[in-house]
Formats: sequence, C-alpha cells, structure tokens
Amino acid sequence: MQFVSFLILLFILPLNRLATQNSSPDIFVSINKDDLIQHIEYIASDALMGRNTGEPGNQMAAGYIAGQFEKSGVQKLKNAMEYYQELPLALISAGAGSLTISGQTFEQGKELIFIEGHPVNLNTEAVFLGFGEKPELYENKSLKDKVVIVWLGSEEIRNPVQAFRLSDKKLQYAREAGALALIEMYNLQMPWVSLRNYFRGKQLELVDRDKKEIPFIVFNAETPELITTLKNAINLPLQIRFDGMVKEQVEAVNVIGMIPGSDEMLKNEYVLLSAHFDHVGVKKGVPAGQDSIYNGTRDNAIGTGAIIAAAEYFAKHPPKRSILLAAWNGEEKGLLGSRYFADNPLVPLDKIIFNLNIDNGGYNDTTAISIIGYKRTGAADIFEKAASAYGFKVHQDPAPGQNLFDRSDNVSFAAKGIPAPSFSMGFTDFDAEIFRYYHQLGDHTETVNFDYVYKYIQSYLLAAKLIANQPVPPKWESGDKYEQAARELYGDKY
Ligand SMILES: [Zn+2]
Repeated sequence: MQFVSFLILLFILPLNRLATQNSSPDIFVSINKDDLIQHIEYIASDALMGRNTGEPGNQMAAGYIAGQFEKSGVQKLKNAMEYYQELPLALISAGAGSLTISGQTFEQGKELIFIEGHPVNLNTEAVFLGFGEKPELYENKSLKDKVVIVWLGSEEIRNPVQAFRLSDKKLQYAREAGALALIEMYNLQMPWVSLRNYFRGKQLELVDRDKKEIPFIVFNAETPELITTLKNAINLPLQIRFDGMVKEQVEAVNVIGMIPGSDEMLKNEYVLLSAHFDHVGVKKGVPAGQDSIYNGTRDNAIGTGAIIAAAEYFAKHPPKRSILLAAWNGEEKGLLGSRYFADNPLVPLDKIIFNLNIDNGGYNDTTAISIIGYKRTGAADIFEKAASAYGFKVHQDPAPGQNLFDRSDNVSFAAKGIPAPSFSMGFTDFDAEIFRYYHQLGDHTETVNFDYVYKYIQSYLLAAKLIANQPVPPKWESGDKYEQAARELYGDKY
C-alpha cells in the first residue's frame, strides 16, 4: 500500500507543480456560494416589491447594497453622500393648456400634448418652417417672441422614437432664434390616440431643476383647412396658455463605492463594475391573493449580487487598478441612473479605462456566458480566459437586430468613449425560454440554477480582475462607432 501511495505521489507531485507553474494565481476567483445566494434572494424577495425606482422597496435595495459595501470595507467617494449619488428625478405630467387659432381653441390632452415647457400666456404670431430639422431654416426669419410651427420628424424620419429625438434639436434651434414656443404638427403612422395615451401617464425623468424650457407642443390638426392655414403661417396670430409641467420629486439613488488599487501608478485608473438594481415593481390589476410582484431575479438581482460579490472579493484581493463599484437605479425607466452618473461623474471619466457591466434578461444555455460587445472592446482574449476557467463557452450578441449593446447601462459609458461591454447569462436566441421569465411575474429565485449562477459570477469577477491587472487598457476595435468618442475622452493617451 505504502509503495503504491508513494508511486502515486511520485506521479502526481510533478504534475501538480506543473499545473501551478502554468496557471498564474489569476486563473480563479473564489467567493462564498451561500452568501451570494442569500444576497440574490434578498434583492429578489417579495419584501422589496419589485424594486421600482422611487418606491420604498427600491430604497431598501439601495440600503442593502450600501450595507454590504460597508461590511466589505469598500471606500466612499469624497463627493458622494455616503455610498449614494442622489438622482434628480421627477414624475412629470402636463398641466392644463390650450392653443387658439382663428377663433378655434384646442386643449391639452385632446388635440394637443404639451411635452415640455414653463407656464406661459402668449398672444403672438406663428411662422411655419417645414420640418424645421436644420439650423439654416431658422436663419433670417425674425422669429423673436414668435411661435415656430413645424412638421414632426423629417422627410426621412417617420419613426416616433427618432422623430422625438429630432424634436430636441428643433426645440434648441427655436429657443436660440428667440422663439417663445414650438408646435410640431402630428403626421406619424401611429394613431394619435396611442401617443396621447402614452403621454397621459406620468413620465419618470431626470430633471434639471433650474432649466426653463419654452413650451413644446405636439398638435393633431385634423381638418385640411386647418393644416393649410398652419402650413401657410407667415405671421399667423395665435394664443397659447399653459400652466407648465407638473413635477413631483422622486427619491432615488445610485449606490457607488471604490476599492483602491494595489499598484502605485495604476491605482489612479479605474475599472467600473456595474449592474442596475431597479426593476419594474408590481403588476396592476391582479386580484388580491395572487402573485403581482415582479421579482426580477434574472433582471437584475443576479447582476446586483455580482457587484456585492465584487465588493467582498476585491476588498480582500485588490487588483492593480482601482475598482469602482456601481449599482445603478432607473435602468428600466430609460437608463436614468447610469446616464446621470456619466453626465455627473464622481471621478474623472477619463480615469475610467473600462466599464464591465452585468445585466440579464434570462438564459437558455448553462454551458456558456454571453457578452454583448464581446469582440468590440479589445478584451475578447480576457473574456475567453475568464469563461474557459469555469468551463464556459462565450456567445457574442445572439440577436444583433435587438441592438442589445445600446439598450443597457453600458451604453451610457460607451457613448462617452469608455470601452463598455455587458456580461449576460448564456443565451443563444430570444426563444420561449427567455420570454418565460423576462419581465414576467414568474422570475423567481426558485427557477434559477444557482450552480450555474455561482460559476457565472465568478467568471465575471475573473474577467474584471484580469482587466484591472492588464498593463495596457483594452481599446475599441478599430472602426467601432464609439472609437471617435474614446479619442476625444482619452486624448493623447488613447
Ligand atoms: Zn436589466
């Protein structure tokens, strides 16, 4: 027996030594599985009522994350409030308003939608400028103290989202030309009533509390006579009365922390690890006694758990670069928290060399992880290493048509030039398995394979560690649409 054991030792020892020589200590990261499950179960619990931005359960989630940061010894940023960045959010709706032209009066919520604006009582003249999509159209038109009338969208742009994005520009041109209001005539395929119903609810938005915007009105002029009158407006008399937008302040925070890097030089740079913790709240109209809570285990209690695990792991094992930890709020309302941080960063943006976001819709392949932007941000080798260390393949964006890269919080930073992919659980397609849980009441912790989640999150942490220790920061693939932004952000360093 002893001889056999000796023989085994003889053969195993050198192999072991070989293995340790070949693998740097970076090859695995290890975290406590039970703790991780507990964090995810709490974030996804019914007590947090679906973590809707601005509601008590959302604040409880923020408090829990901050508590875990504190427990791990994560540092607070100097210009934050404890671990929080307050978001200037408000629920916005239009007050009463009307427009009178040639003796006919139209009302807010009927033929008119006031989308923006401070209170006014105007008796002035209007000028028609076609689509009004180019700044030249506003030149030499004596628009001061008048109202600008245009068509919604442009010759090419008929899609509502793009048309309203263009409206922001038109509003700016009109304001700069000294106009007192902008009216856009409705002309899209989508029925007027759908748009009106959409704006009838309150919109959760980031607000600039000091900004005074001129009224911006979308007008559904129904009769051909009226449309002709508006299209021929040179100095058309009209009256606009508006009570202004009603803004109800909403309490909501991002949770932010920092772990200093171990390298004297590289610690001045940050790798931003981020996940949104908000979800969509409670379903309305569900009979009492039935489940109505959107628990959002996959989206995104699991990602939030990864950030809490990152706090624990990196506080104990700091990599060379500093780690910035962020749990974003308001993602489900339009990436509000990450957008606010990107516009009001608590560390200089050009010191953030990479943002590794983690966000999940669902999964249908536990042999893999998915990385949205896998080959775009110069870290494909690292991702492969981080995946294969836990036995995973990597899927890249499985549904390019869905434009996922630009739909999660990573885009708030990509648009500023920071290489910013997003980790997701393994999925090959948007199939029935994904839609079974994606934004559904049944996205419960019991339906999740935690053996897989445990390895998936460790793989995320390993990728983060490798990036934070990498001598040279990863760069966008050449020709990427965000490459130019990176040059502007990082300047000569890039
Ligand atoms: Zn999400």
